[in-house]
Amino acid sequence: MYTIDLEAEKNEILDRYKNLLKVLKPNTSKEDKLLIRKAFDLAVEAHKDMRRKTGEPYIYHPIEVAHIAAYEIGLGTTSVVCALLHDVVEDTDYTIQDMDGLFGPKVAKIVDGLTKMSSVFDSTSSLQAENFRKMLLTLSDDVRVILIKLADRLHNMRTLDSMKHEKQLKIASETQYLYAPLAHRLGLYAIKTELEDLCMKYIEPEIFDNLSQQLIDTSEQRNKYITRFVAPIDEALKAQGFKYEVYGRVKSIYSIWQKMKNKNVPFEEVFDLFAIRIIIDTPMETEKSFCWRVYSTVTDFYRPNPDRLRDWISTPKANGYESLHTTLMGPDGRWVEVQIRSTRMDDVAEKGYAAHWKYKEAAAGQNALDEWLKKIRELLESPESNALDFLDNFKMNLFSDEIFVFTPKGELKSLPMDSSPLDYAYSIHSKIGSKAIGAKVNLKLVPLNYKLKSGDQVEIITSDKQKPQEEWIEWVQTARAKSRIKEAIKIERKAIIDEGKELLSRRMLEINSENNPQNIAKLVSHFNLSNKGELYLRIAKDEITFKQIRDYFRSENSGRWYKYIQRKLNLPGIAAQALNPIDKIIQRVSTKPTELIIDKDIDEIKYTISECCNPIPGDNVFGFMTEDEGIKIHQTNCPVAIQLMSKYGSKIVKAKWTSKERISFLTGIKMTGVDDMGLLNRITRIISKGYGINMRSLNFEGHEGMFEGVIMVYVQDTRQLNELISNLKKIKGVVNIVRIDRT
Ligand code: MN
Repeated sequence: MYTIDLEAEKNEILDRYKNLLKVLKPNTSKEDKLLIRKAFDLAVEAHKDMRRKTGEPYIYHPIEVAHIAAYEIGLGTTSVVCALLHDVVEDTDYTIQDMDGLFGPKVAKIVDGLTKMSSVFDSTSSLQAENFRKMLLTLSDDVRVILIKLADRLHNMRTLDSMKHEKQLKIASETQYLYAPLAHRLGLYAIKTELEDLCMKYIEPEIFDNLSQQLIDTSEQRNKYITRFVAPIDEALKAQGFKYEVYGRVKSIYSIWQKMKNKNVPFEEVFDLFAIRIIIDTPMETEKSFCWRVYSTVTDFYRPNPDRLRDWISTPKANGYESLHTTLMGPDGRWVEVQIRSTRMDDVAEKGYAAHWKYKEAAAGQNALDEWLKKIRELLESPESNALDFLDNFKMNLFSDEIFVFTPKGELKSLPMDSSPLDYAYSIHSKIGSKAIGAKVNLKLVPLNYKLKSGDQVEIITSDKQKPQEEWIEWVQTARAKSRIKEAIKIERKAIIDEGKELLSRRMLEINSENNPQNIAKLVSHFNLSNKGELYLRIAKDEITFKQIRDYFRSENSGRWYKYIQRKLNLPGIAAQALNPIDKIIQRVSTKPTELIIDKDIDEIKYTISECCNPIPGDNVFGFMTEDEGIKIHQTNCPVAIQLMSKYGSKIVKAKWTSKERISFLTGIKMTGVDDMGLLNRITRIISKGYGINMRSLNFEGHEGMFEGVIMVYVQDTRQLNELISNLKKIKGVVNIVRIDRT
């Protein structure tokens, strides 16, 4: 049972930290040490209220993982910092952005990779080897992610005792299946061996206990044999003046058990329970020749088996392993394996290539570690097909057209290359796809046509007001998304056509034209359309205006229609055409004293909303007479209009909005603020739920923690728009909002 003694714990934390400092690379700079201290302090603070299953303070774990990374794998400052921080983002309130701010992008990226890895690995769903490979590929931009993950796993395996039995089994079998082979491929033999033994301890405890007991029982007898075998070699090597170490090394329990199973033999008959290791202390220049000289000496005493000579000095293994192995006939007719290597080779064999820094940095300058990391990366990317079957699929994945992204819960999804958040959304559910208004990738806002990359974590933001847009078809890669979008647009189009048909029949009535097939055919041909569906569609979309239709029929029925208008407008007849056209309209305007009422009902006067300032009802407006476009409506503060007014004052017509009919006008809002989780949701909630305002488009871009967004909405007037803006301003994180009149 663990009893809590806060004072003792505090000391223990500091002791463990000091132990970590002791195993840092000897050339670790003062600044690096400060950085490690900063990470340590942050981790202590962040995990202060957490405890491990054992009852111990949680912080022990990251310190130990950092220790493994530095001492047992030989990694440097960045890795130590990341190891200390590896659980901070996952388990506490700190974010990847915090890591970025405090420790820079490199650390943030590695911690992010580690966080994603654990969200996949430590989830309850069982992990498939296939996914594991994909994960490695996806997250191994920086292979330190994988190495620190291995250190993390090793420490968890070392402290697995306190877990529940099922959990132990799950973690152990996953380790045996995935992590131990990975450690092996990366040349981390010591870690691989320890992982395997730890797995066996939990998976097959009886056999494990039995074999360890047998090893203890037979150790005396074995040691005697080893001493006898080594004695003549020892003497000869000394005589030749070698500096060396020689000892018998017992195989791991796991590998003994594998041998027993594979060869179907009892413990007593496993002939190579141990190997003799001769480690020569020699500079790199002479290590190869010294190894062969030692080999020669050994074979002076014992006859080698020619089939069992392995020269991994001339040709090191792909993972960097270098050694000379031979099997010799020892006393009592027993085969004994002898491994000959230099101190450097031994370090490499135990700790993997990382051990090189010790030797290379002294000789060839720094960055040996970086070289090793690069090598592992290469190993992962292009395994030699014979040596690295485990990683075989990497090659395939690398050249395939797939990317792998994560759901917010950390599940993996595969998508074709260049997929957008829309593809992702439709792959989850077509309802999510069709309601998508934006997405967050790695917690940052992105537009729906953003190109996803492997490793991205994607979250879709939806709104009930949204429906699939035609342009979306260009934005998606997957057939599923494409067909769903087309389907929705087809249905939508049908509704619009019906609407246009209805609209046309009403308009025809208003202008006393008969809504018969002949007239409709005339319109279709007049507007150069292929069919009446197209006509209805354009009418519904206001691409063909009522005025155009009316003008067409008016010219058709010219005389009759014109007289009708004259009567209706009470204009002074054809003769009045001699008047200046502006006067004519002013005359017309004056029938509704001094106001130009802008309303759909008044079609007799052609007016257009000017594009330079895009006024909407509620804005102060005025009309400006043009020769061929009728009256153009500007905002009174429109810079273009101010210029016009100063030059052509006589062409100005007063104008004012009526509020008779509820028509929606398109306008834009531009906002900036701090990119924050949930912000987009809050914004869209306000727009869509609060005021019955329709959103046409939304385009947000995040950049270094800030966002800038443009929202196009349909509003009825400025009152509604201002209310919307003032409500949006209340959202935490929003810094600035302005109306934009042009997009
Ligand atoms: Mn951990």
